[in-house]
Amino acid sequence: MNRFLVAIDGPAGSGKSSVAREVARRLGIVDINTGAAYRAVALAALRKGVDPDDGAEVAGLAKSVELYGGGVKFEGVPVPDEELRTPEVSDAASKLSANPQLRSVLLPVQRRAAEEARRGGGAVVEGRDIGTVVLPEAELKIYLSASPEERARRRAAQSGREGELERVKRAMSIRDRQDSEREAAPLKPASDAVILDTTSMSFEEVVERILDLARNLRKEA
Ligand code: C5P
Repeated sequence: MNRFLVAIDGPAGSGKSSVAREVARRLGIVDINTGAAYRAVALAALRKGVDPDDGAEVAGLAKSVELYGGGVKFEGVPVPDEELRTPEVSDAASKLSANPQLRSVLLPVQRRAAEEARRGGGAVVEGRDIGTVVLPEAELKIYLSASPEERARRRAAQSGREGELERVKRAMSIRDRQDSEREAAPLKPASDAVILDTTSMSFEEVVERILDLARNLRKEA
């Protein structure tokens, strides 16, 4: 069984994106970042002046989103990563993602991307509800966590800007609350997920741990 799906969920700053990218690279499979789909909708809503509280309008935008290994398209055009990763888009994406209409449009978009990738050899799919809602059948489910201080420190270090730590900490705690307390597909580990607290683990240790679990799957197959 080489064609497996690895689901990686966890809060902002838990290291999901960089870990998922590296695990996928080393396994020779693709990496699907589902947050990029929510971010693409948020970016389009900001640019088109769509009212974020208008669930139907926002869900309408999501119909133009296409997700694939390594990226996302809006209206058929790849959206550059740097446009998706601004603080404004992060905040808007977290708010919009509580909208069940939007989630139900993006659900098949994410499943299609994963199934397509599975046919090509497999995928690492990362997000908030991958193990619980999007791909409950994934062969391996990982939930990455880390203390809020460590997650804020990692995010601030990524931005490379001095004095960011306090702002990042505040923004992150708002996003954590929004993502975990929403009714539609809240952030939580699947009952069969392997939970990794990465607070005192290095990036390499986290990647190696997941690769070990994935290699065991391949052996069992
Ligand atoms: O993972 P990332 O931080 O890029 O995701 C942006 C936002 O999209 C998150 O704050 C979360 O609210 C939402 N999201 C989600 N479900 C996913 C992936 C992301 O609700 N599977």
